[in-house]
Amino acid sequence: MLPAVGTYVDVHAHLIHPDFAGEEDATAARAREAGLAWVIVNGLEPRSNRAVVELCARHDHLLPAVGIYPVDACNAVIDRDAWDHPFPAPTAFDVDAELAWIDGVADDVVAIGECGLDAYWVKDPAALAEQERVLRRLCRIAKAHDKPLILHTRKAEARTFELLQDEGVERADFHCYGGKLKLAKRIAAAGYYLSIPPVVERAESFQRLTSELPLSQLLTETDCPYMGPDKGERNEPANVPRGVTAMAAARGIPADDMAAALRANFQALFRC
Ligand SMILES: [Zn+2]
Repeated sequence: MLPAVGTYVDVHAHLIHPDFAGEEDATAARAREAGLAWVIVNGLEPRSNRAVVELCARHDHLLPAVGIYPVDACNAVIDRDAWDHPFPAPTAFDVDAELAWIDGVADDVVAIGECGLDAYWVKDPAALAEQERVLRRLCRIAKAHDKPLILHTRKAEARTFELLQDEGVERADFHCYGGKLKLAKRIAAAGYYLSIPPVVERAESFQRLTSELPLSQLLTETDCPYMGPDKGERNEPANVPRGVTAMAAARGIPADDMAAALRANFQALFRC
């Protein structure tokens, strides 16, 4: 029999992804069996946002978050002819229509995300300005509906922090943070959370974040299918317990205490 209340939490899963096609429900079931209380499934753009809401409606332990991924946020502005990244340029869609849709469903989701700023894949100043415009709009939607934000930030960590402070955002999680430790400490001191993926088992940067930041500001995520503990293997929410064990080792505390602290932090940020 499944436990009535799970122990573990995943604040950032991409179960709507080609790597999980046709296995979304089985993956959700494995998460439950692995002892996850909650998995937040994050959308990126119109298609995945709607699929996230549908999937979460079928599973009590899945919670939807809808947003606009920064690379998608600037889809109307990027120079498609100059796109030379190892993945296709984002599908074109009406960003303002999607912002209106997110505003309309915001009361029925647990968080606004994935959203943020990405200056790693996007370097054009006009496209970066568009990312900021969209993120500011999402901050205002989140505040209006009293929801936290789940943030992606890559090569734009300081700017993202500054923008959140400027918008008066109080509730946010920085997912897969890869910036400087000093800035991470400022982010945590501002009351924001940082979520650690299971790759912490073999990634020293995440072990360092885990041991150096206040326990009260840490969370767990998977970012699945990415950031798994086994190199080259598909990640999934059922791997969270392994990440927690590695985090406990990094802090030198019992794994049960680590899991309990993370569960309490989840409750504090997402109110469930
Ligand atoms: Zn993500």
